[in-house]
This record gives sequence, structure tokens and C-alpha cells, in this order.
Amino acid sequence: MNEFVWHDHCEDDLILPANGNEYVLKAQNLSMNLMQQSVKADGSLSFLVIGDWGRKGQYNQSDVAFQMGEIGEKLNIDLVISTGDNFYEDGLTGVNDPAFHGSFTNIYKAPSLQKTWYNVLGNHDYRGDVEAQLSPVLREKDERWFCLKSYVLDAEIVEFFFIDTTPFVDDYFTNPKEHTYDWKGVLPREKYLNDLLKDLDLALSRSTAKWKMVIGHHTIKSAGHHGIIIELADQLVPILKEHNVDFYINGHDHCLERIGSIDSNLEFLTSGGGSKAWRGDLKGWNPTELKFYYDGQGFVSVELNQKEAEFVYYDVFGHVLHKFSVSKDSCVARQ
Ligand SMILES: [Zn+2]
Repeated sequence: MNEFVWHDHCEDDLILPANGNEYVLKAQNLSMNLMQQSVKADGSLSFLVIGDWGRKGQYNQSDVAFQMGEIGEKLNIDLVISTGDNFYEDGLTGVNDPAFHGSFTNIYKAPSLQKTWYNVLGNHDYRGDVEAQLSPVLREKDERWFCLKSYVLDAEIVEFFFIDTTPFVDDYFTNPKEHTYDWKGVLPREKYLNDLLKDLDLALSRSTAKWKMVIGHHTIKSAGHHGIIIELADQLVPILKEHNVDFYINGHDHCLERIGSIDSNLEFLTSGGGSKAWRGDLKGWNPTELKFYYDGQGFVSVELNQKEAEFVYYDVFGHVLHKFSVSKDSCVARQ
């Protein structure tokens, strides 16, 4: 790991080893966990995106997992991204919760899926022991598992910025209903959110990667059940636009979806079809922006290189529902 170089770090930055291929970047006014992912020999990268999945194989979770294994092999994927709500209904009870094996290790068994899974937390994960999902003990149980609240994954041609979106949502604090959220490390909330936004802003401003993707659990733009999360639309979107982020990728709505922007190249992609889906739960949306919506189970694959990114949406049978590619040179999306 000594050969590690973050391609745009400054001379006075400190990059401290943490666990495995995990580092902590300490720069002026910025402290963010940083992961490194190598690309294929030809400089490309491929991965799958799945969200809202952990139900011990039920609600077609196992069927989606099987198809992920098939597509993952075909594309020789390098990693998997999980958009959160990893364990239903209430996260993990602790590092020894059998749901970790029952909903993760024993479900995603295909050889092609034995790659690092980069996870974020969803609102359901916050109803359990948050520290458990972040604990290196889980990585000892299954070395694929990686989860932090917010972090950067540097994969040379692309940088992924994983953002902890649950603490942004006012409702979980003011109207938690019968749920209890594990806010350890989040309070005082205002400072937590300010620091997170500042770190994201700085990390994005320093990034020289060709592609920038921000991953969070909650929807920002969605024609599905949860629709627009106004806190994120107000606080996060201006930062994404300022730094020319290409894609915001989320779960939370149990569907597959693609929404563009009239006033920028930023696209909002939902991959939340890992198990239980919400058929027929669709609101209206401006047809100029709404490129694709599917109210069933499935997942997304991504293949990218310096010039082009191709996204493919699959259903529970592995059938292609929608695909599109974006060229970096022209920044023109094709249908
Ligand atoms: Zn959710």
C-alpha cells in the first residue's frame, strides 16, 4: 500500500493509513476517509449499484442477487455500490446480528460479487446499531463489506463521494413516530451537517477525476413515493452543480429511475429495487426530465472509461429495461 498516491493531493496533506486499503486524508480544513480502487488494465471500471435490499432473501432479494451475479460476471465488475437501507426493518442489532449473514453474505454468493461492497447507511440502518455497520468486525466476518458514514472512493477515472443523507431529514428528528434513531456521533446535528457539507465541498473542489459521482441513500429528485427531499435539494444540490458532479445516485424509493436536469448535466439515478418494490407508486414528473421509471425490483450496471459511461437498468429476470450512455467529450446524453 506504500505506493498509494492520491492524484490531486497537496504537498502539506497528510494521508494516514487506517485499515486495509483505507486512508484518512488530513488536509487544510478537511478530514475525510479516503478509499482507493484500482481500475482494469485498459483503464476502465465496471460496477453494479443496488439499494434497499436486506430482507434475508425475501421479496425476490435472492432473485435479484442471482441476476447481479450473472451480469457481474459478464461485465467482470470491480466493485458493488449499495445505496443504503442495507438491513430491514431496523438495521443491525450489533456486530453479531445474524442478519449480516442472512441478508448479505449468504445472499450475494456469486463469484463475480466477491468484490468490495461500498455501502452508505439508509434511514432503516439508523434504526439499529449504526456503529455495528461501520465496524471493522464486519469486515472480518466478510471481507467484502465496507461502510462509513461519509467517505471518498478514488478510482482514478472516477471519484465517488459517499454522503450520509439520513441526518439531513428533519422528519426523523421532529416526527420519529414509533422509531428510535441512533444519532450517536451526529449530535449536535447542525455542526454535523455543516462539517459534512464543508468536507464535501472541499473534496469536490480538489477532485481532478474525469467523472464525479455522489452517492447517498435519499432521493433528491424522484417521481416515486418519497419524491423530492427538500433538505437535500436546498443544501446539497447547489454544491453538486457548482462542482459539475455528473450523477447523484440514491436508493430510498424502491424503484429504478433516471431523472435529468433542465438547467445542467446533473442526472439523478435511483437504484432501490434490491428486494421489496412498490408497484404503482408513481407521482407525476416533468417528462422533459423523467427519462425512465420502473416500479419493480432490479439493479443498475455501470461501465465507464475516460470518455464514456454506460448505465444499464435490469429487472429481476436480468432483462434490460433501459440503457443510456454519456460521453465526456460532448457531455451529450443519448437515449
Ligand atoms: Zn430509505
